[in-house]
Amino acid sequence: MELISVVVPCYNEEEVIKETHSRLAREVEKIAINFNVNYEIIYVNDGSKDKTLQILQSLKNIHPIGSGNVVIISLAKNFGHQTALTAGLNFAKGDAIISIDADLQDPPEVIEEMMKKWKEGMDVVYGVRTSREGETWFKLMTAKLFYIIVRKITKFDIPLNAGDFRLISKRALEVFKSMPERNRFIRGMIPWIGLNQIPIYYERASRFAGTTKYPFSKMLKLALDGIVGFSNSPLKTAYYVGFVIALLSFAYGIFIIFYSLLKGFPVHGWSSIMVTILFTGGVQLITVGILGEYIGRIYDEVKKRPLYIIDEQESRF
Ligand code: UDP
Ligand code: MG
Repeated sequence: MELISVVVPCYNEEEVIKETHSRLAREVEKIAINFNVNYEIIYVNDGSKDKTLQILQSLKNIHPIGSGNVVIISLAKNFGHQTALTAGLNFAKGDAIISIDADLQDPPEVIEEMMKKWKEGMDVVYGVRTSREGETWFKLMTAKLFYIIVRKITKFDIPLNAGDFRLISKRALEVFKSMPERNRFIRGMIPWIGLNQIPIYYERASRFAGTTKYPFSKMLKLALDGIVGFSNSPLKTAYYVGFVIALLSFAYGIFIIFYSLLKGFPVHGWSSIMVTILFTGGVQLITVGILGEYIGRIYDEVKKRPLYIIDEQESRF
């Protein structure tokens, strides 16, 4: 019999996890019967500081549904959503693997439609949000801006408004597992694989409870991973800007020479010197910053540290 795996990364989700499990397990069990497959639900506790892990471990007492099919992996500390998801994917043994958020923003009912597409031979069925309920305008605006910038800069069609709610086939997962990068941007890595990919549209609900685990700093990190991880064009930009400045400087130099020859050497010019120094200084610092961003990533790769550390391995119930 075929197996489907559902991977759920959880970080400080004590307020929702019980509800998530009862809704998710019920739905997945129904789907497993409809499609005549076995299933496993893999919860990855991403170093939660609240009671998430205890609640996960007590699920078997509270909720008979899903019994025998639940796996809990606990990471040694908070490694971040993308890494926690990777850990879960590495554990998944299924023929189809579904990743879903722990906060019920991605409706488990959509999995059934994903399964249909998978049965039709798709390798990746990714959820695209048609609407996003209950999120601040700041989040919506920054998310939109992020996708626009990433698509412009990387010249690579990262699906717009797609999160990490998707189904992937076993062979797509095998490719994914062979991608060793440390700074992971999964919603770019999966489209990069190719194979048969298809979107599926759904309305994103608001969080069932609790608050977002993606503060601005984590969003910024994700955005950088998306841009720097998928493109060298920031490096080229530095080169182009340098080229333009050099041209302008050359033209201005010629102007100064002729001006001096024709009209003598005026002493004034403090403002132009200041502007030039500040401007080129600024551009140079930005360029060094861009270089630093890439070098830092090369350093991360070269160190070859493990992506994550597992604290408690695979408790199954
Ligand atoms: N998450 C995680 N580690 C983190 C941050 C988030 O495993 O460091 C999980 C979180 O529990 C949730 C998913 O990633 O299941 C998405 O996070 P969240 O809902 O906070 O993000 P948002 O929907 O606000 O973008
Ligand atoms: Mg969420």
